[in-house]
Amino acid sequence: MEPVFFYAMPHQNDLNTLQNAARLLVDRVFRYKQWTPASRVPLKVHFGEHGNHTFIPASYYDGIIDWLEAQHAETAFIESNVLYGGHRTTRKAHTELAHRHGFTRVPVWIADGEAGEDMADIDINGRYFKTCHVGRLIAEQEQIVVCSHFKGHLMAGFGGALKQLGMGCAARRGKLDQHMGVKPFINPLQCKQCGACLKKCAEDAIHIGRWSRIDRNKCVGCLGCMAVCPSNAVMINWLRSLDKGFSERIAEYALAAQQGKRNVYVTFAFNITRQCDCVGQRMKPIVPDLGILASADPVALDRASLDLLDKRAGRRVFGRGRHILAYAESLGVGEREYELEEIKIN
Ligand code: SF4
Ligand code: SF4
Repeated sequence: MEPVFFYAMPHQNDLNTLQNAARLLVDRVFRYKQWTPASRVPLKVHFGEHGNHTFIPASYYDGIIDWLEAQHAETAFIESNVLYGGHRTTRKAHTELAHRHGFTRVPVWIADGEAGEDMADIDINGRYFKTCHVGRLIAEQEQIVVCSHFKGHLMAGFGGALKQLGMGCAARRGKLDQHMGVKPFINPLQCKQCGACLKKCAEDAIHIGRWSRIDRNKCVGCLGCMAVCPSNAVMINWLRSLDKGFSERIAEYALAAQQGKRNVYVTFAFNITRQCDCVGQRMKPIVPDLGILASADPVALDRASLDLLDKRAGRRVFGRGRHILAYAESLGVGEREYELEEIKIN
């Protein structure tokens, strides 16, 4: 059973304290594991979609970067391209967005090349995949500090360490694999024919008109259209997609992305919104901030985040997608049992 170290809100929450807390948490994980940092330890982050306001700001990572630099580890922000058209589809646009969002202190590395073509094939013996396609630069690292923002997610139910590891580290082809079979449809009665989805779709799969529809043969299931539709007219048959094991495919990719690494996982449970940071619009948090968590085990970390959320809200908040924990455990990604150790800052 791995410990999950936790800095709880509402203690002091000024920027300096949060940076310090993240630094201390990472230090605690390294010391518990008796690890010394590798010579290069990038931070896997999410730069936030253009127009999103609830992604974890670049300055929150300063404490972790300070700690790594003090240990003489070279560091960087590392991320992979997304499936859908927008500001994070190519290395050039993605890097520019990262810089605009303040990720300038250390270099930005886009792990899967200019448009997702640079990948490493990692063999696993999963139910869905025998080989997973992970961004090459991520696959090449011995150690990564995988930083995630804990929040809801349209498809996965919730997003935390496992989602950041599985989906977030996959190259474009790997992301496509995980979305396999998940295709949205448009409810023409709800569609206002605004055209926002049309602009977002890189596959030319959408037809707007009196009977707006999506061409299933062209659609790759990236869900970009769903993220931008202001009328909630783009829908998913959730039961069908859950049957297809979306979360389980993420867990198999998490196994591949973690293979052979000594990763540290840090989760920022702030600005907990219903949807994820790929949504380019302002969203309201659904519960007060919880704090920062860190562990060497992404399964334990996600379980602890969900437990803390439920406790804070007094109810079960993200009901869907929790079976990823059991499936990831069965694959050996981590364990659901954990011990929560709270840290305080004087
Ligand atoms: S129609 Fe399909 S490919 Fe186009 S944006 Fe929507 S999900 Fe992506
Ligand atoms: S974004 Fe939504 S409302 Fe606008 S055209 Fe597409 S489906 Fe219709």
